[in-house]
Amino acid sequence: MTAQDHEANTGGDVPPPTAHFCSAIEIAEDLDNPPSNTTGVSARAVLLNAAFWGRGVRLRVAFMEGEPALHRRVEALAQLWPEQTEADFSFEFWIDNGLDPSEADIRVTFTPGLGSFSKLGRYATSVAKSKRTMNLGWMTLDLDEERARAVVLHEFGHALGLVHEHMNPAKPISWNRERVIADLKKSQGWDETKIEANMFARYRPDQIFGTDVDQLSIMMYPIDPVWTTNGYSAPFNSVLTDADKALVREAYGPRPSLGG
Ligand SMILES: [Zn+2]
Repeated sequence: MTAQDHEANTGGDVPPPTAHFCSAIEIAEDLDNPPSNTTGVSARAVLLNAAFWGRGVRLRVAFMEGEPALHRRVEALAQLWPEQTEADFSFEFWIDNGLDPSEADIRVTFTPGLGSFSKLGRYATSVAKSKRTMNLGWMTLDLDEERARAVVLHEFGHALGLVHEHMNPAKPISWNRERVIADLKKSQGWDETKIEANMFARYRPDQIFGTDVDQLSIMMYPIDPVWTTNGYSAPFNSVLTDADKALVREAYGPRPSLGG
């Protein structure tokens, strides 16, 4: 049984974790022309230096679609990032407050059929204000908790500047390219360009701040062993690992203590 057997499954019954793949195409970002005022922090899972917002950033998050109950569900899950890392950044969610979403830093839609993706960190600033920077294509009020947590934490990881763990240059994955291409074409409808960018492209070590490959990272795709030539695999991950937390805490710095 492989992913292609579950094409077009959008939830309801319980599809395998491989049914959905985030399609943030980080490598397609213009690494040679990062957004201005990029902080040259060497930051580690894997954070793209050029996408780093800077320490102490307060990111305003607004929704361009969806009902407040869904917004609150997203917020509760996304806030696990600052809660569990105690790093020096915060998310300020705009829910039902009358503010114009175009003024927010992170603008979220829930358009089905487009998949889930997010701009990487500061690259959101190069998106037109009338447009989304993140789509949570299969996030709903009914989505089971594990998959909801997985997709929200993953996409907000991108929003913090984290890249896909399978692109970590520390230990390149030995892909069975033909199999990956065949499966993703069929299950996700991706063309070869998109597959190349999302799966096989790699960062140079000087472009990222990263640790060794963390198989359980929230930023790792589930990898079926048939997708690699050496049996390497990764499970469906839905919680932040110690390495995920350590990376963000190291990059953003520890949150200054509040009177403690
Ligand atoms: Zn992703």
